[in-house]
Amino acid sequence: MKKCTRCLLPETFPGIEYDPDNVCNYCLKWEKYLDRKGNDLEKARARSQVRLGRFIENNRGKQEYDCLVCLSGGKDSTYLLYLLKEEYKLNVLAYTCDTGFMSPAAKRNIRRTVDKLGVDHVWKGPGEEFYKKLYAHWLRQNPDSSMVRILCPKCIIVTFFTAAKIAMEKQIPYVALGLSPVQTRFLKYKTPNLLFFPQRPLFFLSMLSFKWFPEKYFRIPLGQEEREFFTFSWEQIKHMPRFIRPFSALEYSIKKHNSTILDKGLISPGDEHPLHTNCLINLVMLKRDFLKLRYSPYAWEFGRLYRENQLDIEEWSLLEERLEKEIDSGLFAKEEIDSVLERLDLTPLF
Ligand SMILES: [Zn+2]
Repeated sequence: MKKCTRCLLPETFPGIEYDPDNVCNYCLKWEKYLDRKGNDLEKARARSQVRLGRFIENNRGKQEYDCLVCLSGGKDSTYLLYLLKEEYKLNVLAYTCDTGFMSPAAKRNIRRTVDKLGVDHVWKGPGEEFYKKLYAHWLRQNPDSSMVRILCPKCIIVTFFTAAKIAMEKQIPYVALGLSPVQTRFLKYKTPNLLFFPQRPLFFLSMLSFKWFPEKYFRIPLGQEEREFFTFSWEQIKHMPRFIRPFSALEYSIKKHNSTILDKGLISPGDEHPLHTNCLINLVMLKRDFLKLRYSPYAWEFGRLYRENQLDIEEWSLLEERLEKEIDSGLFAKEEIDSVLERLDLTPLF
């Protein structure tokens, strides 16, 4: 498959064109944008960094915990937990939403990290049955667009909701998210320095709509306990936390994150790889999306990481090729995917 020499976006990607050197139109646009706005972006980032420092100091030592960190077991949230605990010296509570479909590597990483850093950690969520219903319902749909783009946001909003719930209960002033700058795709390049995410009124509104319409949003029937999980009292709302994305203000470097968490022994070598830490549903969606769209649902995000030299393009290009071949031959993560489909009763569909 023909791919851009700078970002590996393939010829199957919507709207793509290549110049005679096989550089794509998105790369050329990006280059122009940086020429024009690069300095402004750096200045905005420096300002956000000052704001972040002030925000952290203003909220230090006021409650039992200074902040809640969403810990997925991946490299970014692990590094964020390390940073807030060891460098900023905050009293943090870590939290993970167990969907029942986490990868074994992610779980190993979480146990090892909280143990090494000596931080308190809680598991909380609406329960495995909820996730089974949610995944099975959405995987049964067969839209022309990417399943990752449809299902991931629903799952993420449950994680945010649960985080808010814990923070309201324990009166923790803010929740820190390890989202990388490329993970907020809808922001495009316009406001990469948005520190607070999502803005509080917006989150407040989405939570209110949850309270009244969770079944409409998820499109699945909820049991009594699940419905109770998605409600909260007006008393709790008074302690609605802020949400921050520190990596939109601080330097974001995958190489630094990986080397730090490996050096500090928070994660065993090999267990930092996103293919191993991503959830098992993601493997199913990766395969499904690639077969349907003929490009990876993460091609855009990875394209930006290659352009910014965050990842070694030669190493990853070989890996991409291998994975594409494995998907086409049906060998890609076969054992994991088969077991997920069986648990969700979807085997006949895939
Ligand atoms: Zn490109």
